[in-house]
Amino acid sequence: MEEKQKMKVSTRRRVFVANSRCVSCGATKDLQIDHIYPKSKGGSDIEGNLQVLCVKCNIKKGNKFESNLSQLKMVAKSW
Ligand SMILES: [Zn+2]
Repeated sequence: MEEKQKMKVSTRRRVFVANSRCVSCGATKDLQIDHIYPKSKGGSDIEGNLQVLCVKCNIKKGNKFESNLSQLKMVAKSW
């Protein structure tokens, strides 16, 4: 990614995070921008694909996406 573009995106993200809370648990600190549909799976950077998650929920979600099918079932049960 070009340096210019990276800076623009990170500014927008800071604003986004500053005005938000975790969509999953409502936490207001340790927030991160999360791609609803992961970039690694082809998700885009448009705002409709972005949500605010705290670090904990982001890790939880990340683990889910990285999991294989059997692990997915385990996560579903624990929820
Ligand atoms: Zn959270």
